[in-house]
This record gives sequence, structure tokens and C-alpha cells, in this order.
Amino acid sequence: MAQELRFDGRTVIVTGAGGGLGRAYALAFAARGANVVVNDLGASRGGDGSSSAFADKVVDEIIKAGGKAVSNYNSVEDGDKIVETAMKAFGRVDILINNAGILRDKSFARMTDSDWDLIQAVHVRGSYKVTKAAWDIFRKQKFGRIINTASAAGIYGNFGQANYSSAKLALVSFTETLAKEGAKANIHANVIAPIAASRMTESVMPPDVLAALKPDYVAPLVMYLCHESTEENGSLFEVGAGFVAKLRWERSKGAVFKADDTFLPGTVAVKWNEITDFTNPTYPTSPGDADFVGFLEKAKALPSN
Ligand code: NAD
Repeated sequence: MAQELRFDGRTVIVTGAGGGLGRAYALAFAARGANVVVNDLGASRGGDGSSSAFADKVVDEIIKAGGKAVSNYNSVEDGDKIVETAMKAFGRVDILINNAGILRDKSFARMTDSDWDLIQAVHVRGSYKVTKAAWDIFRKQKFGRIINTASAAGIYGNFGQANYSSAKLALVSFTETLAKEGAKANIHANVIAPIAASRMTESVMPPDVLAALKPDYVAPLVMYLCHESTEENGSLFEVGAGFVAKLRWERSKGAVFKADDTFLPGTVAVKWNEITDFTNPTYPTSPGDADFVGFLEKAKALPSN
């Protein structure tokens, strides 16, 4: 029997919570006792316009169900105002779900500077700004849980999404660094690459597939990672349709060359199979995991290439 994980007394900010995944998180946290700040700019899929109706509708749903929630209509680029709403309404912030997002899909050949800049501004700068505003609060209270939202497009690349995929992968390394810096203050940051039916995916997937991809099937992982009892920190997960998996970096065993003037492009070609052989991989988790001193020692014993 699964234990019920509750969030009574905790305040959760969910950005972009007026629809799709964010709405599912907001409803789920509120149902488990949390105070929720429902942030949504009310923008179109491409980031144009604004409306208070998105956030207000979700706040109404929460209040009708007996929960506690307030709206915030700022863009995530004004992250301090979103955190201010939480502090004014509930006097604290414990959990931050950076979820707001937009798309400007175009082949790289047709992509404009504004397609690039707007995507970076909402996803990367927006996540930075809200996190930055919450960070000192988390540090002082020695508790914080952050979820950032990446995408399979960010991990693997995807046609027509050079702007979006680069922004989404940036959020993976942003999370890894926050996790390292926050650990000693009990601030945990994790990142998800979700897949769910929303206005973002409705045009790229058939209806029967969309029916199986409820945003509600992403929320359980998000809530588990944000619970005070959860130790997981600095990890990336793919999640959707009832599937949850953790991803990590894998490094091939690699090849070692004598680092002298005999180390030439042709020498690389000779050992290409060794460089790309994943038979005995390692799983690095920090820049220090590459043992360059060890490689140099090993190389000393080698004849010239
Ligand atoms: P969605 O369009 O339904 O929801 C995004 C919400 O963010 C919208 O309500 C929108 O008004 C809001 N928003 C946009 N710009 C904003 C801003 N500047 N400030 C505040 N709010 C803003 O999309 P979704 O599918 O629920 O996506 C949620 C997140 O998950 C996004 O970051 C998206 O990139 C990511 N994602 C979704 C999928 C998927 O399959 N749905 C896949 C990979 C990643």
C-alpha cells in the first residue's frame, strides 16, 4: 500500500499553471494540502498576448475543491513578482515548479533572432529569474525543492526546434548546478522531460495517443521529488503515460594518446573504435570525474603515437 505524501503547510509556486501540465501539478499539490501560487501569463502557444483568465480558472477549481490558491499573472521573466505573491499570500515558499513554456518551432534555416531570443527568455531566463528570487528564502529556511522542465527535444535534439531544444538542455545543466550548490542547505533540484497531452502537443500527436498522455500521469513524479522526505537531487527523468525513467551521462572507456607532437588527426583515426566503444563505460557526475592526471600518467608509459 503506497504511503500518502502530503504537503500541508508548504507553499508551492507552479509557473505556467493555467493549463496543461502546470494545471495538473497545481490541482494535485492543492489536493494534498499545499498552498499554491498559480502563475500564468495567459500567453498563446507562441508566447503572444496575455490574460488573467488562465490562472483564475485554475484557482477557482482549487478553491471549489476546498484547497488554497492565489493567482499571479506575471511573466516568469519577472520572477521576483511571482515570489512576492507567494510571500504576501502565504508568508513562505517551499517548492518551485518551473513549468511555463512556449514554442516557436521552425527549421533552423527559417529561424529568426526573435524566435531564438523569445524561447531562451521564457524557458532559460524565466526559470533563472523565479529560482533566483526564491533561492535566498530556501537557503535561510534550509529547505527548498525545485523542479525544472526540460524536454526530450532538449536531450536528443529535434527537427524544427533548435531554439527550444537548446533552451531545454540548458535547464538540465542549470538543475545539476543548483543541486550541487543547494545540497548543503537542503535545497534539491531535479529536472523532468515530460510527455503529455496539452495545447503544446495536440497538433503533433494523434487523438488516441493524446488520450493516453494525461498531464495527471506526470504529476506523481513531480510531487514525489518535491516531498520533504525525498533525497533525490540533481537528476533527470523522462516521464509520461505512466512511464518514469532516470537518465544519466555515459562515457566510453576512451583512448589514451601520448600527448606530444605525434598526436595527430590520423592518430585519432587509428583509435576511433576505442574512443567510441561503450563496452566498459563510466558514469560521470561532475567535471572532476575525468581523471586527466591519471590519463597523463598512463600516457607517459606509452610509446609515441
Ligand atoms: P501549455 O502550453 O499547456 O502550458 C504552458 C503554460 O505556460 C501556458 O498556460 C502559458 O500561458 C504559460 N506561459 C507561457 N509563457 C509564460 C510566461 N512568460 N510566464 C508565465 N506563464 C507563461 O504547455 P504544457 O505542455 O503544459 O507545457 C508545460 C511545460 O512542459 C513547458 O515548459 C513545456 O516546454 C514542457 N514540455 C511539455 C511537453 C508535453 O508533451 N506537453 C513535452 C516536453 C516539455
